[in-house]
Amino acid sequence: MHTLFISDLHLSHQTPIIAKNFLTLLSQQREKLDALYILGDLFEYWLGDDGITPLHQPILESIKYVSNSGVPVYFIRGNRDFLISAEFAKQAACEILEEPVVIDLYGNPTLIMHGDLLCSDDHAYMQFREQVRNPQWQAHFLSLNMEQRIEMAKQARDVSKSATKEITMDIMDANQLTVEKYMREFDVTTLIHGHTHRPDIHHFKLNNCAMKRVVLGDWGDEPSYLMVSEAESTLVDPRYKA
Ligand code: MN
Repeated sequence: MHTLFISDLHLSHQTPIIAKNFLTLLSQQREKLDALYILGDLFEYWLGDDGITPLHQPILESIKYVSNSGVPVYFIRGNRDFLISAEFAKQAACEILEEPVVIDLYGNPTLIMHGDLLCSDDHAYMQFREQVRNPQWQAHFLSLNMEQRIEMAKQARDVSKSATKEITMDIMDANQLTVEKYMREFDVTTLIHGHTHRPDIHHFKLNNCAMKRVVLGDWGDEPSYLMVSEAESTLVDPRYKA
């Protein structure tokens, strides 16, 4: 039995192979899971829970299937799907956690987050994040019709691109001092996050203490995931060599 962590599937209608791999992974793993954590950017974009269409159903159903088999499923919002809310949670039968949050992972307190909060060198993005996480901004956005929301999302993407010149926000990496700040603040020696699309396991020392930061990978033609059991933790990603 183990706990499964995934993030950054960036599901959209353009990525049927990723959806297929996701459904396969969940059905293969379902009976072996103590818990499933989805650490954000499950979807490439999310315009609001009222935008759930029949195309989303297989994904929602497969998550619900896991949770209905008695496996708790937790979701943390990413920078793409930060508008995921109660209706999604209901239909997928999962629990949304507010990041950053410490979980008890087989006795090891572990900090989990999407990871965009760690990319503190991207000032334009951090400002944008603050704006779109504001409840008033969200209420206004959700009061618009879908066409208007799509238009606004496009504009936001263009602004973010021009603000960071050629560098898109996904290429920014975590700032080590910010990583350490969070790990100290939450008093953990293990951090698990996604977002940067740089699957890896980083070991470092902080105040003479051995720290570990596991970065989940984004999904391409193959799935990327972390399995943690009582005994070991395994990062499975075609780009990662242990
Ligand atoms: Mn992300």
